[in-house]
Amino acid sequence: MAIAPISAVMTMNRVQNEQKVSMDKKAAPQSVQPQMPEANSGAALRSYFLGGNAVSFGFNCSTGKFVTKQIADVPCCCCGGRMILQKDLGKVAGSFARNKGEQLADKINRDKDYFRSNQGTIAGMIAIEAAKNPGMDAKGAIAEIGTDFQGKLKNYCQGVLDKTNEIAKANLGEKNVVSDLIAAEKEKVAQGNIDRISFTEKLVAMQEKGQIDPVSYDMVINSAMELPQNTERAMKHFNKVAFKDNGGIFNELLKESTQTIEHVHPHSLGGPNDTDNYLAECGECNHPRGNMSYLKWIQVHPEYPVNAQKHIEWFQQQIVDGKIDSKYDDYGTKIKATLSKESDGRMELKVLDKQKIQELRNKARHGEHVSVSEEIEKQEKEKQYENA
Ligand SMILES: [Zn+2]
Repeated sequence: MAIAPISAVMTMNRVQNEQKVSMDKKAAPQSVQPQMPEANSGAALRSYFLGGNAVSFGFNCSTGKFVTKQIADVPCCCCGGRMILQKDLGKVAGSFARNKGEQLADKINRDKDYFRSNQGTIAGMIAIEAAKNPGMDAKGAIAEIGTDFQGKLKNYCQGVLDKTNEIAKANLGEKNVVSDLIAAEKEKVAQGNIDRISFTEKLVAMQEKGQIDPVSYDMVINSAMELPQNTERAMKHFNKVAFKDNGGIFNELLKESTQTIEHVHPHSLGGPNDTDNYLAECGECNHPRGNMSYLKWIQVHPEYPVNAQKHIEWFQQQIVDGKIDSKYDDYGTKIKATLSKESDGRMELKVLDKQKIQELRNKARHGEHVSVSEEIEKQEKEKQYENA
């Protein structure tokens, strides 16, 4: 799936925002004329949302009743990891805790997108220890890691960087800018200096300069996100599981992967309890955000724009396949508008409109193969052709 570079998205932003305002006017005529906020003005954005008149929202709905809350394994809109329903947490934790040795390592590596980056670091370190010892369970691995946490953390990070380097080479050729960056990062890690945000910021900059194509960037950034944010964060999660039993270890490592509903415009700043202000997001991504602006948030989660696009494509595919109710037919268009406003046009999702969704659902009902991702790609190509 092709994703437009963030830089290209940014240049399109003003035009699209203007179009959107005229669209909103058409959809819901209001006595108060919508005023677009100045770019990067948080206060203006807040008043825009609080005014309410310019934004036509979907339907009022508590977060618990939002449709994704009933579905297991929904991809998080921010980190892209699979999410667990609260009621299934014990069951999923148990499916890891039962294993030992190679089997435990395989299970963790196969299902690693159930873990978020810092917790995934601990799970990955457990996998390394378990792979070396056939009888080793998670509790035994944690005891082993405790003998040399810093050294084993370095090894884990070097492994993630090596894997990321393989991806970079396979996509960008033997000599490439990403591999050079990784080599420098490995030096830093060897000295015990782990700083994922400064590393991924450099990757983002390369992508914005057009040094990495969007598809390679997607693969590289998602691999890099397996690094812990820093040593302290990894240590914090290690300490939380240090004295737990097998089930307790995985319960702790997985609990932030349970599904929550994000208010795109924060509830505390006037964001409504409304489907068009909701995105399904794991606890790890949702809880620390608070009222942080999207621009700041994207620095912590550079993979967000890519994964939000995948998330909405997943969502629209569920509608087309009849797994999500037709009352969500225009969710894509609405959430695109909400995200665009909230991010000052920094995030522009590509979505199918209501008519297209209805058309595709009809095709799917008649047994035709329908791919939302392919349709979006086709639509974007047509747009480019029209603009050329
Ligand atoms: Zn997440």
